Amino acid sequence: MTVPFYDVGASQASAATAIEAAVARVVRSGWYVLGPEVAAFEAAWAARCGVASCVGVGNGLDALRLILLGLGIGPGDEVLVPAHTFVATWLAVTAAGATPVGVDVLPGSGLLDPGAAAAAVGPRTAAVIGVHLYGQPVDADALAGLCASAGLAFVEDAAQAHGAEWQGVPAGSLGTAAAFSFYPGKNLGALGDGGAVTTGDVALAERIRRLANYGSSARYVHDVAGTNSRLDELQAAVLTAKLDHLPTWNGRRAELAQRYRHALGDVPGIELLEVDPRASSAWHLFPIRVDDRDRLAAHLAADGIGTSIHYPVPPHRSGAFSATHGAGCFPVADDWSARCLSLPLGPALTDADHARVVRATTEASSARWAAAQPAARSVVPS
Ligand SMILES: *Cc1c(COP(=O)(O)O)cnc(C)c1O
Repeated sequence: MTVPFYDVGASQASAATAIEAAVARVVRSGWYVLGPEVAAFEAAWAARCGVASCVGVGNGLDALRLILLGLGIGPGDEVLVPAHTFVATWLAVTAAGATPVGVDVLPGSGLLDPGAAAAAVGPRTAAVIGVHLYGQPVDADALAGLCASAGLAFVEDAAQAHGAEWQGVPAGSLGTAAAFSFYPGKNLGALGDGGAVTTGDVALAERIRRLANYGSSARYVHDVAGTNSRLDELQAAVLTAKLDHLPTWNGRRAELAQRYRHALGDVPGIELLEVDPRASSAWHLFPIRVDDRDRLAAHLAADGIGTSIHYPVPPHRSGAFSATHGAGCFPVADDWSARCLSLPLGPALTDADHARVVRATTEASSARWAAAQPAARSVVPS
């Protein structure tokens, strides 16, 4: 592809010197797990999110799972999850021993529908996981209100939302606790797997810290049956090196996203993501929706432009969950997975390549739309 969907290496090029210095510092330090680099990154990320506590963990899936375990959620409990998300949101619930209960999403944004969530609350419901999908925060007012009135935990899946805000409040501080992923392709990515939990609940943070480190409060003292899921020193140092660049990178994402919206907003057949004026997105992805998604993707690929689909198979239709969640019960999520296509977006995307994507997408869509018109007109009685 001459315009890659996302170039991880190029996206962090402006931080390359700082990253290499951080790696060298850790190599020389002789301290690789649970040391000063993790502590420093946790403090910096907690401050960035505006919360009291941050706990580095092994990945985003574990961050979600450990939040649920830390809240005492497990077998017999149900957790509401959006039907349109990366499968990790659902897997975290089963990994904690609880049962995921799908909830359909809003047609415009693909985000959890607060009304549908309210209707899905039952006697066993213990928590709601709101996913800030594509970088746009969920309606935190509605979900926090629902959770407060029903006595549920409001868990944020912020894996795609580093630096996003809802009404000026950072993602990561909107609920009971939030899960971040630092997978290399995220807005803030490590050189491997990594994750974090942020929360204003200091006692919950300490329970999660213990669970993530063999259930241990002191060396060889194992109070609870924990696991091993830690952010390591190398990844923490890399993340600290990249943290200063995050606002610039997110700013470039937002600039390119606005330009896409301006250029593609009136192109027939293309539906843009609905943006809530109360939300400030991290623009992790730029999804559009079109009827003949696979043909548009093939057309762009022939032009050397990479695209991706987030996500082609919703969790309820995947083998892992289809037996317990009947097909067809989430029509809006099904429509998203059938028609969404993510265009190239990232801090390294050049103006020229962005313009190329706009041109190719516009041409392909306009040509297909024009071709479809005579047939549509011929059925109108004269
Ligand atoms: C990436 C992602 C996760 C999982 O993060 P990992 O670090 O890959 O485990 C969870 N939820 C969403 C929405 C994601 O995009």
